Parts: sequence; C-alpha cells; structure tokens
Amino acid sequence: MRDRVYLDWNATTPLRPEARSAMEAAFNISGNPSSVHSEGRAARKLIEDARSAIAAAVGADQRNIVFTSGGTEANALALGPGLCRAGGEPVQRLIVSAIEHPSVLAGGRFAQGAIQVAPVLPSGVFDLTSLAGLLESGPPALVSVMLANNETGAIQPIPEVAALVHGAGGVLHVDAVQAFSKMPINIKALGADILTVSAHKVGGPKGIGAVVASAGIEGLHALIRGGGQEQGRRAGTENVAGIAGFGAAVRAAIGAMDVDAPRMKALQERLEIGLRNHPGTVIFSDAVSRLPNTTLVSAPGLKAETAVIGFDLEGIAVSSGSACSSGKVQPSHVLQAMKADPALLQGAIRLSLGWDTTEADIDRCLEAWIKLSGVLRKATAIGLEQF
Ligand code: PLP
Repeated sequence: MRDRVYLDWNATTPLRPEARSAMEAAFNISGNPSSVHSEGRAARKLIEDARSAIAAAVGADQRNIVFTSGGTEANALALGPGLCRAGGEPVQRLIVSAIEHPSVLAGGRFAQGAIQVAPVLPSGVFDLTSLAGLLESGPPALVSVMLANNETGAIQPIPEVAALVHGAGGVLHVDAVQAFSKMPINIKALGADILTVSAHKVGGPKGIGAVVASAGIEGLHALIRGGGQEQGRRAGTENVAGIAGFGAAVRAAIGAMDVDAPRMKALQERLEIGLRNHPGTVIFSDAVSRLPNTTLVSAPGLKAETAVIGFDLEGIAVSSGSACSSGKVQPSHVLQAMKADPALLQGAIRLSLGWDTTEADIDRCLEAWIKLSGVLRKATAIGLEQF
C-alpha cells in the first residue's frame, strides 16, 4: 500500500518524468535565448520545440503562442481592452462567467465598472440566455468562459458561447487550464479567439503558462514591457528550463490522453458509486458532462476544512473547493453561483484524480469518506468544530 494517496490533481500535478529530464537537460544550456551565438541558439531551440508542442496540442499556429509565468499571468495578459477579431471593433467591456478562476474574475486590465458577471445554471453550466441578453445590452465585449471548471469539472458549452459572442461582434477568451490534456482541445473547433493554459496542471513545472491566440486576433498588448521577447508580447528573459519542461509534459500528456482519460473516468465512476452508497452524499454537476477526473462532493453537516485535515491524517490529500481558496473559510464562489443548498456549501470536498491514481487509492478514499463523514457530521451536530 502507498504511504500517501494524492487526490488533489486539480491543484497541481506531480512532475512527469519526461518534463524532469527535459528540464535537467535545459539546465546544462548556458545561453540566453535572445543571443545569436550557438549557446543562445541552443536555448532558443528548446523554447521553439516547446512552442510547437503546445501549438500542436491545441491546433494553433505556433507564432501565436506567448509564454508567461503561469495560468494567472496568461489570464491577465489575455484580458485586455482593445482586443478585436480581424476587421472587427475593439472590445470595450468584459463579461465573465460567475464560476471563473479568481485570475479571470479579477478582470485583467479592464476597469471594475467595465466588468459584468454572467450567471450559471444550478447544474454548473454557463447560462447562454443571460449571456445573449448581456451581449445585446452594450458595445462589443470580450467574454471569458472556462472550458472546464476547476471545482466541479463541469464542461462549458464553448462552441455555443462562441456563436453568440461572434454574432455580437465580440471576442471569446477560454481558460483551458483545467481541461488541457484531460479532453481534446482544438482552438478552431471550440471557436475560441484566445486560450490560456498552465504547465503544472499537465505534469509540467509550476510557474509556466501560455496564451494561445487564434489567427487574426489583434490588440493583444504586453502586460510586462521591456525587451522584445515573445514578439514584444511578454518581456523578460524566458524561463528556458520551465518552458522545456512544459513542452515535454504536454507531449507526454497528450500522447497518453487516449489511455489516461478513460482510465480516470472508470476510477471516477468507481469513486462516485461508492460515495453515493453513503446516505446524504451529493455530487455537484453530476447531471452534466464533466472532466473525467473531478468530483466535488458534500454531505449536510460536514465541515470541509476539518474534513481535509481528517483526510490528511488518514494519508489522503484532498482539497476543499479550489486550491487557491483553500486556507480561507469562505464557501466556494462556484457553489454559490450554482445556488447550491446552503447546508452543503460548508462541506464541499474536491477529489481530483490523475494518471497515477489506482483502484486501491479510490477504495482507501471511500473508506476514509465513510469514516470521516460519519464522525464529522456527529461532531458538528453536537457543536464540536474539531475532533
Ligand atoms: N485557471 C484555472 C481554471 C485554474 O484552475 C488555475 C489554477 O488553479 C489557474 C487559472 C491559475 O493557473 P496558475 O496556477 O498556473 O497561475
């Protein structure tokens, strides 16, 4: 039996061996990728190889990929007033779905007064009717809707969103950070104008991400200005090893997706059948298409922060809601946007699986869930916060 079971893959993934080897090799290259000598060109080659891996993975042109310091910076770079599709008008306002990651909800370079939040349905899926109303009510908008939610795993209707947005002369940004390598992504088939991705969710290193623009998108202005790196869209000497690790992780993850995704799906089903056997258990967004690795579960009377500690003591790493909010006691903004039953809001636990998860891990998690949900619900009922 493993010492520890890791079920928090949406927070971050372990480094893939392919990424580690690529990074170790990159550490031996001393050149600056902007230098014209051999050492510089060797570093440049690593960056361009990674760029082509990411471009191939999402069906984009590699000239339209900008490396950043992660998904957060990629989202901040993508969300700028002035973006437009070829021949279109520059966007003047931002519409974000209510379940976006905080790095999107922050609104990039849009002034607070120019940001509108569009609702989701109780299923956790974006509300297209509300979007249509918002689009009609003002000038061309940049709309930001994630491909899959980081907490519930719910997959959003991006092609339908794209049709509405483009029909209204707008631009569509899709945060694909959680969906990347867990489901096929093609920027054209989705109808996205700009996609954002992050390395550490696909087995790459933390602190590297990318913006992928589709052909014909104009007005993507640098957030960090200085040297002319990344075609003037992101200044600063590139993190060569990080980028090389990202490229290697993407090649490995996309290469294994046809095997990993169905395997995770089968494990997710085993997990959810086991969870549902326990009375009172609720799995969020279970009526809609979800990522094959994500299960957000709750039970009335459960306190998520206490349950996370309980799981940890049982040797299992899980998270309460999104990782970026863990440590904070506020209920998940995603569940609030879904108008989830208040009795379930405090107890939501995210179980997220990965390529290394086994049936034994799932069974151990189920044993812990049965034990903890009983103990913790009793403790809450008699007013004990800790146990
Ligand atoms: N977008 C989504 C949907 C995420 O889940 C995350 C991270 O959890 C981010 C963006 C931010 O990515 P990064 O951690 O690389 O800054």
